[in-house]
Amino acid sequence: MKIIMLGAPGAGKGTQADMICAKYNIPHISTGDIFRANIKNNTELGQKAKSYMDQGLLVPDELVVDLVVDRVKTDDCKNGYVLDGFPRTIPQAEALENALKASGENVDYAIDVEVPDENIIKRMSGRRACVTCGATYHVEFAPTKVEGVCDKCGAELIIRDDDKPETVKNRLAVYHEQTQPLIDFYADRNVLKEVDGTKKLEEVFDAIVAILGA
Ligand code: ADP
Ligand code: ADP
Ligand code: ZN
Repeated sequence: MKIIMLGAPGAGKGTQADMICAKYNIPHISTGDIFRANIKNNTELGQKAKSYMDQGLLVPDELVVDLVVDRVKTDDCKNGYVLDGFPRTIPQAEALENALKASGENVDYAIDVEVPDENIIKRMSGRRACVTCGATYHVEFAPTKVEGVCDKCGAELIIRDDDKPETVKNRLAVYHEQTQPLIDFYADRNVLKEVDGTKKLEEVFDAIVAILGA
């Protein structure tokens, strides 16, 4: 099962991807998490990505495409995977499609988690992230047992630099311009599924499971 998560920044892609991956036992591939881990470890890729991320801009396609194409070819992806945060541009989607085509594969589901811009700022201001394991929380909507500490791995949570309201506004503009066209791209390929992301976490997940099958 090869799944792509679509939706605005803060729509709940990462949260749902985690739940899907736990239920179906497939890897969660988040390009944002990969970049944040590289920034934390101060790698060359991290240094290149950081300035774009801090401004709420997309990292150039050439820094992300090969990384994902190589990742989905690894052994643990043979039963499928969830791509969260990739593709984000038409050229990225085309590159993925071509790479899959070469081995006779294609994306099975592109799940668009729909949340209007008005709801996004509040979601982002309460988001807390674990850079160690990639888990995501919200101070009000998805709190941890101990404040500031990851339930899953015990690491200290961070407030992402790019979750400031000014940066979130840029990210939403970038989303509408560069990423939203992917909705038509995947609709044309008959794999688009839309879910209402304004509902509670569990209700959104139930809608996704109804699409994927139990
Ligand atoms: P969100 O969870 O809010 O959607 P992500 O964690 O997926 O954000 O991504 C954070 C940032 O990392 C993006 O704003 C962008 O700068 C960069 N990034 C992540 N994935 C990609 C991608 N596929 N293409 C370009 N930039 C990306
Ligand atoms: P994305 O990966 O699309 O950027 P996240 O999964 O990180 O989004 O979610 C953004 C924030 O909103 C997080 O703080 C998360 O805990 C919270 N959140 C996710 N889904 C919901 C929901 N259905 N209702 C309320 N808050 C949510
Ligand atoms: Zn953690």
